[in-house]
Amino acid sequence: MKNDVQSEAFNAESTELTDGFHLVIDALKANDIDTIFGLVGIPVTDLARLAQAQGMRFIGFRHEQHAGHAAAIAGYMTQKPGVCLTVSAPGFLNGLTALANATTNCFPMILISGSSEREIVDLQQGDYEEMDQLSAARPYAKAAFRVLKAEDIGVGVARAIRAAVSGRPGGVYLDLPAQLLSQALDAERGRKSIIKVVDPAPRQIPAPDAVKRALDLLKSAKKPLILLGKGAAYAQADADIRALVEKSGVPYLPMSMAKGLLPDTHEQSASAARSFVLAEADVVLLIGARLNWLLSHGKGKTWGGPKQFIQVDIAPTEIDSNVAIAAPVIGDIGSCVAAMLAGIDKNFGKPPAEWINAINERKQKNISKMAITLAKDTSPMNFHCALRAIRDVLKARPDINVVNEGANTLDYGRSIIDMYQPRKRFDCGTWGIMGIGMGFAIGAAVTSGLPVVAIEGDSAFGFSGMELETICRYNLPVVSIIFNNNGVYKGCDPNLNPNKQDVAVTAFVKGARYDKMIEAFGGIGYNVNSPDELTKALTEALASGKPALINAVIDEDAGTESGRLTNLNPQSAAKKK
Ligand code: ADP
Repeated sequence: MKNDVQSEAFNAESTELTDGFHLVIDALKANDIDTIFGLVGIPVTDLARLAQAQGMRFIGFRHEQHAGHAAAIAGYMTQKPGVCLTVSAPGFLNGLTALANATTNCFPMILISGSSEREIVDLQQGDYEEMDQLSAARPYAKAAFRVLKAEDIGVGVARAIRAAVSGRPGGVYLDLPAQLLSQALDAERGRKSIIKVVDPAPRQIPAPDAVKRALDLLKSAKKPLILLGKGAAYAQADADIRALVEKSGVPYLPMSMAKGLLPDTHEQSASAARSFVLAEADVVLLIGARLNWLLSHGKGKTWGGPKQFIQVDIAPTEIDSNVAIAAPVIGDIGSCVAAMLAGIDKNFGKPPAEWINAINERKQKNISKMAITLAKDTSPMNFHCALRAIRDVLKARPDINVVNEGANTLDYGRSIIDMYQPRKRFDCGTWGIMGIGMGFAIGAAVTSGLPVVAIEGDSAFGFSGMELETICRYNLPVVSIIFNNNGVYKGCDPNLNPNKQDVAVTAFVKGARYDKMIEAFGGIGYNVNSPDELTKALTEALASGKPALINAVIDEDAGTESGRLTNLNPQSAAKKK
């Protein structure tokens, strides 16, 4: 009998060969990953070609950051890691922003980058696009791996998938040096090295005593509140979450990307009385939401009087991160919510009527006040009447995905545009970043096969505007609406230069026609000045199913500095006086 070494040598001579390129694609396909978002170049062009030849979709972008955002949002929508492929050094660094954003937002994503040769990089001998990418990625990723041998590609991909989707999801970096991709390997050995990951995101069942502690506290509340975060939307436990809200009768608030988990028109939604319920509630049940800056860290004026928190989360270390949590429930949201739901029987009771009545009163007051503001048509348009027009068109199409970014465009958009279905709203997320627009729009359109309406501030759109070409190239049903007020926040800030050199620091070209940009690539452009024109253009664009861009002319004086985040904007002492 031959020993192992002899039999390997024998097989290598007598059987077909495979290589690193094929093994990467085989490993992704074996794990049902059917799409790669990326940008080709040295050394990954053939990897993208092979993916396409093997029946995968390769969606090619104009800048890696947007490919990364597309992959991240695909991961959020599907619970499968979205994959982004980039070239080495600069391409990798461009993708790294999206990887860091995915990790911060708990989106499962894998950034795969080609890299230069280890022996040259490590001795700093000056290779083409030389960079120690693994070290650069590590602080910004949930995990980072490098594969050096072709027979380890299966393990590398399996580890990346598990790290991305298990526990708290996040971004994973997979480093593939150029030489690895062309390494040959016996085909049979290669086939055996591929791992089909079994149960990549195992359920994590909460401890029964933790569930009981949480329910006891919720039951004791006089003014209970449920806060749904994007972790709850990600968990795809939609029916149980809705049942928990409805059976308990507790009013709820959705964080922006959890909008639509229950329809925004649900009678238990307390969104129209947000500040009131946050300040007044005595027990708050957080489901997949962190007490970070978006929730004023659980303290201060926003939170008013004393309160106790119940927190449902998969990450035990999230608990007590900002304030004391009285009742942590650790596990996956599906299992936690199911367990809590099982404990809500007839004896659980409903929240006191005074609490519900007080909220409803507040809601009615605020809704009536808002209705007056929304009904007013101004010329040029302000944010409110433009968003009202969009809201009314989208009401008839609850299946449409909505991307929203900007300062004022985001702030007003979040509260004015109602969502009716889960995982349909994608926005600036945990970091509050700009630049996710076209990447998220493309990722959402490709993943869902459904239209996307991207509601974009003109400044926010600038970060990813070149991806209009990508949208047109793949003929995606994405309608971008640019809220064009000639600048960042506003278009009419003064130029402070004593010699009147240059323009104001917040200014853009006045009267820019963003609609002409999409026309350059064969898409449909609209320029609108009134809510009626906006309604007509959006209706027509959606009916066409084609890539379109609506340049919505907004009053250049309508915005406020930093939107609602003025408190985060340090001002000079001299200006304050
Ligand atoms: P938001 O910005 O909407 O408030 P965050 O991103 O702050 O939401 O919070 C999401 C939370 O959800 C994170 O703490 C994350 O650990 C948690 N999470 C994500 N997926 C799951 C899941 N499947 N089960 C339980 N918790 C989850």
